[in-house]
Amino acid sequence: MTAKLSGIAASDGIAIAKSYLLVEPDLSFESKNISDADGEINRLSDAIDKSKSDLEMIKENAKKTLGEEEAKVFDAHLMVLSDPDLISSIENAIREEKINVETALQNATDTFITMFEAMEDNPYMQERAADIKDVRKRVLAYLLGVKLPSPATIDEEVIIIAEDLTPSDTAQLNKQFVKAFVTNVGGRTSHSAIMARSLEIPAIVGTKSITENVKDGDMLIVDGLEGEILINPSESELKEYKKKNEEYAELKKEWDRLVNEKTITKDGNHVELAANIGTPKDLIGVKENGAEAVGLYRTEFLYMDSSELPTEEDQYQAYTKVLEGMEGKPVVVRTMDIGGDKELPYLKLPNEMNPFLGYRAIRVSLDKDDIFRTQLRALLRASVHGNLRIMFPMIATLNEFRQAKTIYEEEKEKLTNEGIKVANDIQVGIMIEIPAAAVLADKFAKEVDFFSIGTNDLIQYTMAADRMNERVSYLYQPYNPSILRLVKFVIDSAHKEGKWAGMCGEMAGDQIAVPILLGLGLDEFSMSATSILKTRSFLLELDTNEMVELAEKAVNDCETAEEVIELVNKYTKK
Ligand code: PEP
Ligand code: MG
Repeated sequence: MTAKLSGIAASDGIAIAKSYLLVEPDLSFESKNISDADGEINRLSDAIDKSKSDLEMIKENAKKTLGEEEAKVFDAHLMVLSDPDLISSIENAIREEKINVETALQNATDTFITMFEAMEDNPYMQERAADIKDVRKRVLAYLLGVKLPSPATIDEEVIIIAEDLTPSDTAQLNKQFVKAFVTNVGGRTSHSAIMARSLEIPAIVGTKSITENVKDGDMLIVDGLEGEILINPSESELKEYKKKNEEYAELKKEWDRLVNEKTITKDGNHVELAANIGTPKDLIGVKENGAEAVGLYRTEFLYMDSSELPTEEDQYQAYTKVLEGMEGKPVVVRTMDIGGDKELPYLKLPNEMNPFLGYRAIRVSLDKDDIFRTQLRALLRASVHGNLRIMFPMIATLNEFRQAKTIYEEEKEKLTNEGIKVANDIQVGIMIEIPAAAVLADKFAKEVDFFSIGTNDLIQYTMAADRMNERVSYLYQPYNPSILRLVKFVIDSAHKEGKWAGMCGEMAGDQIAVPILLGLGLDEFSMSATSILKTRSFLLELDTNEMVELAEKAVNDCETAEEVIELVNKYTKK
């Protein structure tokens, strides 16, 4: 019998390939006294030589698959391995203290790491500390005879198996070879899952135990549609899933025909389908999937892809690229949302007990307003290149919005005084992702230009259920009437003040939620680009008046998410 495991289906599609375990190996060792110092020094130079040739190969591979810039980190690693100070301090310790090479390596590198990490104001030295840690791992692995995973050298089709992937790990996956990924932890709205959807590779998260059940090189089937993994499947299962994969590809071809169509419901109502992006590169997917706007540009990836704060000019270039690429169609740019599961090592933010409830997004921007001002200036300067809308994340109180808006106005005025042109029709809105803001939406609606409902966070905060924690993922309930009531109030409040309301959380592309959202009068649906055509094909079949009736029942009569699902199925599956 084939072993099966299930998890949370995080990105659609089916993949069949060998597994690649991306897990931290055990590099523990015993400290020992030695008598043969020369023998230990030979072991060291042997491990260093092997590490160097590994790194050369990784560097060449990374150049081809990831690009010159990304490959540079390996040059830094090679430099560490050739550093005479470091090597002589290890050798001296072996000779003088008569300790084994592992201990000498650990001690010497610790000294350098502590020294560099103490230079808090010097990001360059901080990075060197990180390089030494990475290189130490590699040399230790050779000394101990342990295999290190190295994703940059992957050159055959694999499925990545990991405890967790950070958003920056995910960004480095090469789609040509990485056919899917499966993790122990995470939920449908964790950022690595969101990125898997934009990469268009199947993903399953929150399996709890995939790393314990799969060995490196096992054959796997990953069914990202159902959230199932088959380990070492039989011939007949392989055949069955290949067929399922072909059927899914056929369905996608059907959707592809709608790429240049407008999204018009059966009764002639136009709905705007927008895309969520993380980098200017994602515009390719936006075009391929026929998005009518960018409803959310998550700018924090600009900060995460760099080893220091991006300059105003770097940012100006990125924003201009996106605005020009969209050729006058609306682009909603969200100011930096660092924190939660999106870390920025060089900002050296303290570790927190509850990062999702902590120092995050607008809270950081208002506190470190020099960073915020730089971003706003870059945005304002770029505004002349397209149809820019600016949005602040994680707004909890009106005062936060007012402060952010004041800083925005100040920067705008400064630029105008400097003679720099700024568009005069920039809308400034907020994300509604904190229940306090949703409940007070009627007041916010008087001051903002628009709302974009961020259900990934709104649901986690309303249900008090961490979006990264697979144990409570059953509480991610977009159709729970409590959530629907909040969403309705936000949309109604916007409309009362003549403003528009969009949604950029994953719920906007959810096939059960879409009919209700249409019925509630949502103006803009923004989602992973890969969900757009499927949603468009679905909306073409819906009648707005019927969905208004459905939404009323869901909001007023239903008691549970399950009842809402049943109701939607009654209205849509005829
Ligand atoms: C959200 O919270 O719904 C959202 C779109 O923002 P993010 O997923 O980046 O937190
Ligand atoms: Mg959010």
